[in-house]
Amino acid sequence: GQLESKTKGKLQKQICRVILDHFDKQYTAELGNAWSSVRDVLTSPLCWQHSILLNRFSPCTELENSLCVQGYHPAFQGGLPYLPAAFKCYIRRSPGRFPAQKHQAGKLKEYYLLNAASLLPVLALEVKDGENVLDLCAAPGGKSVAILQCACPGQFHCNEYDDLRARWLEETIESFIPQSLINSIMVSKLDGRHIGDLKPELYDKVLVDTPCSNDRSWLFSSDIHQATLRVIQRKELSCLQFQLLRSAIKALRPGGSLVYSTCTLSKAENSDVINLILNSCSNVMPVDISEMGRAVSQEFTFLDGLQQHELLVLPERGRAWGPMYVAKLKKI
Ligand code: SAM
Repeated sequence: GQLESKTKGKLQKQICRVILDHFDKQYTAELGNAWSSVRDVLTSPLCWQHSILLNRFSPCTELENSLCVQGYHPAFQGGLPYLPAAFKCYIRRSPGRFPAQKHQAGKLKEYYLLNAASLLPVLALEVKDGENVLDLCAAPGGKSVAILQCACPGQFHCNEYDDLRARWLEETIESFIPQSLINSIMVSKLDGRHIGDLKPELYDKVLVDTPCSNDRSWLFSSDIHQATLRVIQRKELSCLQFQLLRSAIKALRPGGSLVYSTCTLSKAENSDVINLILNSCSNVMPVDISEMGRAVSQEFTFLDGLQQHELLVLPERGRAWGPMYVAKLKKI
């Protein structure tokens, strides 16, 4: 019943013509032929997929058995030597949604549903036990939870500017992370653009999962007014992204590294922002992440022709992950 009503909800959702026309124009120019298959996936919610990230703090063998029975298999197996055995994410090729887990007082949740491509920025960050980590734009907290599946940071600072979303972030952390570890997590509600000045050279790793044009959800904008506003305001996002990156660089200790990610295909918010940073900050250099790309190439389709420090996941049928842009930089 629940699945049926969800499916109906998606069918009833209308694709927004203003956004689709805008994307057709921009992405045909930027992606060429690749756009038509991406467009097919983004406009067909019935072929969307979800991955299931297991919570290592609430292990459940029954759940794993039932996932296998339903045709799910572990992703990210092999090829990523630094990934601990406790990191488990299940995917399957067929579409459909696994039920989300309800909050139960006093019990940690067993899994988090997410787009599998959202794990790539976390994996690229390669957090090690004891490192000081900043998640600059953290709500609702999917990537914060994923970071804690990979390692136990020394200090873990999760920041979210928006009040309501910061509350959501706190709830996510409370439902997935045991109290003993929560004590080493700091949640703040700052404008990420100021954190570099407030906490200079403090962190080994920074995740900059920036606000961006969310291609997947924008295509289902509720009305022309909202869509038109989004298209107009889109141009301002690159500037915010650049400022957040500059702040992240200030917050990094020399030798530390950052990962920048967005869930848009737009070059203006991806490679252009990273190139501007590389051209204007003499203390950062690109980090090659092509090996990680090769290691996960069975599960993801990437755009050809990007540089070695960046990846762009293109959704396709059966591997409907992304869009997700990931770039890695190191502070000298
Ligand atoms: N990392 C999150 C996750 O995996 O669940 C998703 C982050 S979402 C793409 C970007 C977030 O940045 C939004 O929650 C938004 O409210 C927040 N944001 C917007 N402007 C910001 C700013 N100036 N400083 C910090 N966060 C900001």
